[in-house]
Amino acid sequence: MSDGIITMAYLGASILFILALGGLSNQETARRGNYFGMTGMAIALLATIVGIVTENYALMLGCIIVGGGVGLLLAKKVEMTMMPELVAILHSLVGLAAVIVGFGTFLDHSVAFTGVDQTIHNVEIYLGVLIGALTFSGSIVAYLKLSGKVSGSPVLLPGRHFLNLILLLGTIWFLMAFISEAQAGAGMNALMIMTAISLLFGIHMVLAIGGADMPVVVSMLNSYSGWAAAATGFMLSNDLLIVIGALVGSSGAILSYIMCRAMNRKFFSVIAGGFGTTSGNATAGPSGSADDVQPIDAESVAHMLLASKKVMILPGYGMAVAQAQHSVFEMSRKLREAGIEVGFGIHPVAGRMPGHMNVLLAEARVPYDIVFEMDEINDDFPNVDVSIVIGANDIVNPAALDEPDSPIAGMPVLEPWVGKTTVVLKRSMASGYAGVDNPLFYKDNTRMLFGDAKASIDDILKNL
Ligand code: NDP
Repeated sequence: MSDGIITMAYLGASILFILALGGLSNQETARRGNYFGMTGMAIALLATIVGIVTENYALMLGCIIVGGGVGLLLAKKVEMTMMPELVAILHSLVGLAAVIVGFGTFLDHSVAFTGVDQTIHNVEIYLGVLIGALTFSGSIVAYLKLSGKVSGSPVLLPGRHFLNLILLLGTIWFLMAFISEAQAGAGMNALMIMTAISLLFGIHMVLAIGGADMPVVVSMLNSYSGWAAAATGFMLSNDLLIVIGALVGSSGAILSYIMCRAMNRKFFSVIAGGFGTTSGNATAGPSGSADDVQPIDAESVAHMLLASKKVMILPGYGMAVAQAQHSVFEMSRKLREAGIEVGFGIHPVAGRMPGHMNVLLAEARVPYDIVFEMDEINDDFPNVDVSIVIGANDIVNPAALDEPDSPIAGMPVLEPWVGKTTVVLKRSMASGYAGVDNPLFYKDNTRMLFGDAKASIDDILKNL
């Protein structure tokens, strides 16, 4: 395949990726965005395999079959609730690829660089390995935290900012050493020590971030994985990889910024790894007692709903666990048919990944025009007769506003308690992801409907 055709194919793929990102920015066009992305990726793969690879076809085919097979199996098997862990572990693979390509490029002497070109090439290798290694180890820790294999509480080492500074200075020092040694044909030791430092930094950075701040980490690692891919593109002199990497890197950075704003956190604080995080008073597991709250049954909730004029549905992670979205849609349909105004209120960090609730509601075909962002509806709660909290906890926790010591202090939350009545659907008094008690459950105008969210909604539906 001629260079011209490859360049054209790469250009076409780049445009499709940009269109994909544009499409993904809106629920109505998201499906189209995905198709653009898939087509772009197919063109990119085809152009690379047919046009650029010239040898080792058997090895490459074997790798594609193994990698593609594992990907297909995972995509088919993985539950919606496990998506965030899957995304985290996939980010780690991008990081690992950047490290391997970095070492491979360093050891490959088939193309000889001299003078400034050599220095630039070595800086590319160094940065690629650095970003790749910290993305790799950080993503693995994020995976362990998101899957509950290690605690979500922040691990705040004494003098952690000092440690971060030392690690940063260490990488700069070894960059100098690497550049000068590499000119003399050495440099492997400096590269390996820096890799170890970056791995350590990735672990330390993510460990220091508390449960409620994890959404920012997920989008930040997404961004890092993009920059790691871009660095790989520079090492391999592959323009498309540079473009894709930059797109993922910058869109991930913008998403991190949006998440930070949604959680009222400082971007730099999170990037620096728990900067400004206090250990707070997080307590994992069951919090208050069920004796202190006012339970209600499904039949009474149904009567309460039918007697309302305005109902707000506030879904959280528990709706995803219970896979209750279709029953929730059915309930909203019935209520709307009865002339009741129904809306859905979405908190930006509800669930376990950005947009988690929107995906579930779209899957259940909830019309977009009744789905509202937190900012759009928070002022409207005084006019709401019944708010139904479905498997949500941290995102409706008044402690974020009232308790300065709380690990979620300062995070804007949905405020259903200023409405007439709130009904909370959950299985027990257990706390949410951030591990903090929720005073909403004990308020006079709150009723608790205990049980699996889907079973409870189906019960309400029977009584509507
Ligand atoms: P939470 O994790 O705060 O609470 C979920 C609640 O759902 C739990 O209290 C649980 O209580 C209940 N639940 C679980 N399973 C069921 C079920 N089958 N039926 C009924 N209830 C159920 O979720 P939120 O959505 O309120 O908040 C999200 C949290 O996750 C925030 O702290 C956020 O920072 C964090 N996070 C968000 C990410 C994102 O990108 N969106 C990424 C990583 C973390 P019980 O066990 O009693 O049923």
